[in-house]
Amino acid sequence: MPYGMDSEELKARFYLSLVPNEAHKALAEKFGTTPEKVVAFINMPHFISRQYVFGSVAEILEIEFTKMLEHNVHFRKCKRCGKYFIMKGNYDTNYCDRIAEGET
Ligand SMILES: [Zn+2]
Repeated sequence: MPYGMDSEELKARFYLSLVPNEAHKALAEKFGTTPEKVVAFINMPHFISRQYVFGSVAEILEIEFTKMLEHNVHFRKCKRCGKYFIMKGNYDTNYCDRIAEGET
């Protein structure tokens, strides 16, 4: 989904008129393209994307940890198995949902 746009707004964008007006034609001439491309560029929503380049596994883990903090993801160390787990929902638990060794 484009940033800041819900599905209804996105749907409405696809039904906008794609007929270029004089302003579109002037802009197209200024930038050396076709008026149809100008209309399409203006009407179609834009997506924000990010790209990361990593030099080591530690850098990947650092960005992952940072993103978890940014998105307020809570995690704890399980008091039974000692592994970290992400806390889901409103449960205030000290144990992960992994099946312990020797149990089914
Ligand atoms: Zn556990």
